Amino acid sequence: MNILYISPEIAPFAKTGGLADVLSALPRAMAQRGHRVALAMPLYRCVRQGGSALEPTDNVVQVPLGARVVRGRWWRSTLPQCDIPIYFLEHAEFYERDDPASGAGLYQYRLPQGKMADYADNCSRFIFFSRAVLEGLGGLAFWPDVIHVNDWQTGLIPVYVKKIYGPRWSSPMPKTVLTIHNLAYQGLFWHWDMPLTGLDWSLFNWRELEFYGKINFLKAGIVFADMVTTVSQRYAEEIQTPEFGCGLEGVLREHRGKLVGILNGVDYSQWDPRHDPNLPCHYDEETVVAGKAECRRALHQRWNWPYRPRTPLIVMISRLVEQKGLDLVQQTAEEILRWDLQWAILGTGEPTYHQFLRQLQHHFPDRFRVALEFNEPLAHLLEAAGDIFLMPSRFEPSGLNQLYSLRYGTVPVVRQVGGLADTITDCTPTTLADGSATGFCFREYTADAMLQALRRALWTFRDHPDIWRQLQRNGMRQDFSWARSAAAYESIYQRLLNTTL
Ligand code: ADP
Repeated sequence: MNILYISPEIAPFAKTGGLADVLSALPRAMAQRGHRVALAMPLYRCVRQGGSALEPTDNVVQVPLGARVVRGRWWRSTLPQCDIPIYFLEHAEFYERDDPASGAGLYQYRLPQGKMADYADNCSRFIFFSRAVLEGLGGLAFWPDVIHVNDWQTGLIPVYVKKIYGPRWSSPMPKTVLTIHNLAYQGLFWHWDMPLTGLDWSLFNWRELEFYGKINFLKAGIVFADMVTTVSQRYAEEIQTPEFGCGLEGVLREHRGKLVGILNGVDYSQWDPRHDPNLPCHYDEETVVAGKAECRRALHQRWNWPYRPRTPLIVMISRLVEQKGLDLVQQTAEEILRWDLQWAILGTGEPTYHQFLRQLQHHFPDRFRVALEFNEPLAHLLEAAGDIFLMPSRFEPSGLNQLYSLRYGTVPVVRQVGGLADTITDCTPTTLADGSATGFCFREYTADAMLQALRRALWTFRDHPDIWRQLQRNGMRQDFSWARSAAAYESIYQRLLNTTL
């Protein structure tokens, strides 16, 4: 099959979260299965400055955007260490404004008081991107059988394929797949942006593009894509309920016949303590205790932070937003830090959490450490150095860090939602006996429930080292590689293409 992946971010070129990791790993896995694959994303400033060799192509597109016609050029590179083509859409004004030092991100920028705000022209930026892919399709590596789009930024593509471009093309209309990586971000814009989309006003109705008086890009994708996937089975069920549906539960229930959950995989070439270049030493199941101790010493040395051997280290690596359970952390931190442990957090996000965590570090300098930055090598070192990985998410579409933790022998303490529920098995006498126990889970989104799970973990760590070793072993043996997820995507694409025969 010829498959084109379209995403607002792809690692290592640009990354704000798990979406970028998925878009780097899934296409490789599909190529390994013998399919022809290409990718497309915007040419952000971080791409231009990222050091990858970029070549301009002569694929220049003219895209109608309201009353204007906007020009863009496609550039070309390849995914690192392979020959999979990746195309970048150049439009300096739209895409080359990101600058972490001044708080300018890919979709948002920092206001003077520290809060993040969406760029006012996000609607134009991603309409332009979506249409430019389809305008330039003939000049890319191949004509796709499947166009696989990701998240709200690309949600209009299935609409454009069906309503504008498909009927014009002489080649067969590609099938479209939309993956929802996080339903909380939907791309909502006021109705007067409808003319910018170039779509007919008749689509602005509650069964198609409209959502309570606004245009909703993600909803448009859900309605018009031939298939909709999300990143775990549990999340696929949860989002059909009011608690997790973010207002789209009704639309998702209506379209549940084409909704499938496929768990994200892990790129073990990047995330495995047996060969991770970011670690001071390598370790496996047999050498996990010594290996983790050495990584922990390196962490403390790097931070000049007192190392208290035999004291468990809790780690978190996370966007610092409510979704990730930061309000629970806020409610429980002082109590947790009274216990005999050390705790390290790596993350960036909302200013109130930055401030809170800085204060915590000020009050508990020996026990608590926070790094308010996006730092990939440090994320690897923390995974290796930690004993417990805490992930108390309010909701979690798939989650990658708990999967990395399993491989690094860092026992996850998680809330039983979404992908966390699908991947971590709570430690009980039964699950210990059958060898499936891999972590500690709690159900209710409350401080008490989280503290109880954390207490169980700390007690096991301190008083039952044999059980702890078993949990580590069970976790390290889990296989969440992309091969399994890629096979599931392949069967979806195949199903779609067969329906046209
Ligand atoms: P989400 O996509 O909701 O942010 P995931 O767990 O699916 O959550 O993926 C997050 C990814 O981003 C992981 O690869 C994680 O290691 C990485 N990450 C998050 N915050 C940071 C940070 N501050 N520094 C380095 N990596 C980070």
